[in-house]
Amino acid sequence: MSESLERLVRHAHETRVIVIGGGVSGLVAARECAKVGLEVTVLEAADVLGGVVRSAEVGGMTLDVGAESFATRGGVVRDLLGELGLADDVVSPNPEGAWVAGVPGVGAAPLPKGGVLGIPDNPFAPDVRRVIGWSGAWRAYVDRVRPPLTIGHAHSLGKLVRSRLGARVLDRLVAPVTSGVYSARPDDIDVDLAAPGLNAALTRTGSLTGAVAELRARRPQTRPADAPASDVPVAGSAKAPAPGGAVQGIVGGMSRLVDALAAGLRDADVEVRTGVRAERLDRTDDGWAVSTSVDDEPLTARAVIVALPEGPARQLLAPVVPGLEAGDPIAPVVEVVTLVLDAPVLDGAPRGTGVLTVPGSHVAKALTHSTAKWDWVRDAAAPGVHVVRVSFGAQGEEPATAALDDDAAAHLALSEAAALLGVELPASVLRAAHRVRYVQSQPAATIGRAAVTAAARDAVRAVSGLGATGAWLSGTGLAQVIPDARQEADRVRSAALWRS
Ligand SMILES: Cc1cc2nc3c(=O)[nH]c(=O)nc-3n(C[C@H](O)[C@H](O)[C@H](O)COP(=O)(O)OP(=O)(O)OC[C@H]3O[C@@H](n4cnc5c(N)ncnc54)[C@H](O)[C@@H]3O)c2cc1C
Repeated sequence: MSESLERLVRHAHETRVIVIGGGVSGLVAARECAKVGLEVTVLEAADVLGGVVRSAEVGGMTLDVGAESFATRGGVVRDLLGELGLADDVVSPNPEGAWVAGVPGVGAAPLPKGGVLGIPDNPFAPDVRRVIGWSGAWRAYVDRVRPPLTIGHAHSLGKLVRSRLGARVLDRLVAPVTSGVYSARPDDIDVDLAAPGLNAALTRTGSLTGAVAELRARRPQTRPADAPASDVPVAGSAKAPAPGGAVQGIVGGMSRLVDALAAGLRDADVEVRTGVRAERLDRTDDGWAVSTSVDDEPLTARAVIVALPEGPARQLLAPVVPGLEAGDPIAPVVEVVTLVLDAPVLDGAPRGTGVLTVPGSHVAKALTHSTAKWDWVRDAAAPGVHVVRVSFGAQGEEPATAALDDDAAAHLALSEAAALLGVELPASVLRAAHRVRYVQSQPAATIGRAAVTAAARDAVRAVSGLGATGAWLSGTGLAQVIPDARQEADRVRSAALWRS
């Protein structure tokens, strides 16, 4: 070994990095730092690792009660699962697909297959017409014959769809998808971020439906900026992409990813501390001091990577990062109620893998019929027993369950499940329930959001020995979070190692 390499290896072992946050972004960042021999400590405020990727025992089964799948685009999540020895357990959901409920005059109908973010390529296709009716289809057809006046320049997805295809396509097809996938209204979604290439295709083809057709022909899986962002019941496979993009899962649940990451960190001698909240960051002569909720003295490190949700991240970083504001922007809150039901009436999966709702039509935002969506969940459940996840809360609205106690929240979820699935579900079918509240990141695809995150990143990067990652910067969803954590860790570890 050359003298300089030897010095670098010795230097790596002496270089301590503290990763704050034990969600997937923090665990991946810690893994990357440990790979080059740095001494790494992870601090996680909760008693368990994983953040939004978490499981719970419900009705005798271990079930995902947060993220339950990953977007397949780019192959980044799958690559990591391969590294962690989980590749053989990757599974696709039932390709049946989801339904949309709350359609005026129609009730519930299968969500049309194909399309981009719910925008159809053919308004007269029978599954599209079933949702928007003949008048909606003829109104959407105007798009094909309308002169291409303002095409190619619209930013707001909602405005674009409304003006070219009409209110029915917007309200009944696009809004349920953006609400379910992004927890956001179509008007707030930036077309170029949510459906890259759509505007350019619009300019080429002269119509929005033509652009969707072109995009789908070129790329069977659209690549939205950050989907799935929430509890999305849509399935999707390479053959029949879901409106939010194709997804896969892991037998036994996504929390196995967290378990495998944690085991890898243990093997790499990373110190992982749960129940430790980072409360303050201070500059030292050669790095950082991190004050925590449990240590008498601050912990010191050469470098720190902050892998937290936006509110806590800004609070910690603002005092040491010039130009970065503290404060928690109004973020969407979602509550997920998981129900285990003794309900053979659901054996036939009456609404496919789940239901998205027309905003305003139901109290719940969406429902995932887990025993219909994932074979492994069905296999874990006794005959006639079903798992459904009902999610509440959309952009700017408190979840309807927010003020309820757990029991009342479970019963509200049960009555919403009955309405959304179109079956009777009396209180007697409820075997067990679990409820959890999440504060989500602002979706990266909302208008103006890219500039906010770019400014935050630039401000953090201007401070040596400091890194920041997590869904608020990368965009929501594991397919965004994982590569971003890797890149940010690489940047920080290189700087820490090569610093003289
Ligand atoms: C209901 C729901 C369903 C979702 N479903 C999917 C899905 O199916 N597929 C998908 O790809 N994505 C899904 N997502 C999004 C995805 O789960 C997230 O984007 C991703 O898990 C975020 O990871 P993170 O590490 O950035 O943040 P988090 O998971 O939020 O982790 C941050 C961690 O920091 C800890 N922390 C906070 N403050 C401190 C502090 N001061 N000191 C120490 N620790 C602290 C928290 O306890 C937490 O563990 C879903 C999100 C939600 C809310």
